[in-house]
Amino acid sequence: MSVLDEKLIPVYEEVLRRNPGEQEFHQAVHEVLDSLGPVVGKHPEYADAEVIRRICEPERQIIFRVPWVDDQGRVQINRGFRVEFNSSLGPYKGGLRFHPSVYLGIVKFLGFEQIFKNALTGMPIGGGKGGSDFDPKGHSDREVMRFCQSFMTELYRHIGEYTDVPAGDIGVGGREIGYLFGQYKRITNRYESGVLTGKGFTWGGSQVRTEATGYGTVFFVREILATRGEDFADRSVVVSGSGNVAIYAIQKVQQFGGRVIACSDSGGYVVDENGIDLELLREVKEVRRGRLTEYADLRGDKARHINDGSIWSVPCDIALPCATQNELNGRDADTLIKNGCSVVAEGANMPCTPEAVKAFSAAKVAFAPGKAANAGGVATSALEMQQNASRDSWSFEHTQERLADIMRNIHDRCLTTAEEYGVPGNYAAGANISGFTQVADAMLALGVI
Ligand code: NDP
Repeated sequence: MSVLDEKLIPVYEEVLRRNPGEQEFHQAVHEVLDSLGPVVGKHPEYADAEVIRRICEPERQIIFRVPWVDDQGRVQINRGFRVEFNSSLGPYKGGLRFHPSVYLGIVKFLGFEQIFKNALTGMPIGGGKGGSDFDPKGHSDREVMRFCQSFMTELYRHIGEYTDVPAGDIGVGGREIGYLFGQYKRITNRYESGVLTGKGFTWGGSQVRTEATGYGTVFFVREILATRGEDFADRSVVVSGSGNVAIYAIQKVQQFGGRVIACSDSGGYVVDENGIDLELLREVKEVRRGRLTEYADLRGDKARHINDGSIWSVPCDIALPCATQNELNGRDADTLIKNGCSVVAEGANMPCTPEAVKAFSAAKVAFAPGKAANAGGVATSALEMQQNASRDSWSFEHTQERLADIMRNIHDRCLTTAEEYGVPGNYAAGANISGFTQVADAMLALGVI
């Protein structure tokens, strides 16, 4: 890891001491502090009010037991989390992740990132995140429903449209949001649409929310390409993952004339040189909730499935990591660079390790960090909240246009800030500094709270 500005070293040491064993959280904090050297020089008022130290400490952390009964009548127990990190700009906002790897350190890393991402959208939303070590994979719909009902039976007392507004993330899609919302409605006896986002369109959801994170990432890349006078036409693209973010990133790349030649899941990756058959992929992943091996079987000779090695060994012009944290390391970055990749945009949260980011920077590969490139999801959630508050429902075209504008603004904001702080073209530094200063200014205005 790089060496921090000397004023920031004690802040980081305090984070390490207070949060032992939470490696992903340490990594996310270090990544932001690494960009803030020029900021502390220019703004001594932030240090005087201990704003940076305060930002690293969540406002509230909730951990709870989630008991539920499986289809065999056995009692199962999972652990639930909600970390309400920062509410200076608005109600806490951020998704719920259901995956066996979830523990406090993962939720805190995601919640910390969310603070700055949400600021970058320009919408009035604070940062939070939650989830559980429950794995929806391999469980029946009824089991998932009973789990979600039990999870919400505790969570409901901590959330609300003016307090904390969860959404989806890994393992939490439309089905889970439906069960969670149903239980919230039942317990509170209120149809409080604005308490959760990612709802179905017929019961308070927004057009484009399902597609928003993947589409937004591709809109962001379109802006990067435009700065070089280029576009997606005939570009080869590799997208990791095959979940919500990956599927809609693939769709938008294809609409823009690019060719997506590979995607993955936790069991390996498929290479489909003629371009991923999106209809088939959606059938396998969204309808059957199946694996990529099935996609490869159904594609016959056209595609091959590889269950070891790295998807990043597939040569491409543009790489979009859209699966999970730390899935692209320094070695993968070197391979991508050697193969001529010139743009990397994070659809997932923190998929690139610090070594990978450093390699991209040294090789002048345009690198768009998740807190900027995948902010389209939460931005569209905020649009869903707007529609809920005004009891309105916008068209697909109008909502998509708003999303494209928001991504253009975030892109420009990153570049302008990077220029202003002496790191031109560095999207990661621009995103961190721009998000941080907005939150820090609000915290100064609100006093020591
Ligand atoms: P999904 O659950 O829909 O899909 C996740 C995909 O990533 C699946 O293909 C999954 O494979 C793969 N994956 C998950 N964990 C691992 C792992 N440990 N190793 C290898 N592959 C893995 O989640 P989303 O698409 O919603 O989320 C993907 C990323 O995007 C996450 O980092 C999330 O935080 C981020 N994100 C999501 C937003 C959203 O709106 N949904 C918003 C902003 C960011 P398998 O099925 O085999 O597990």
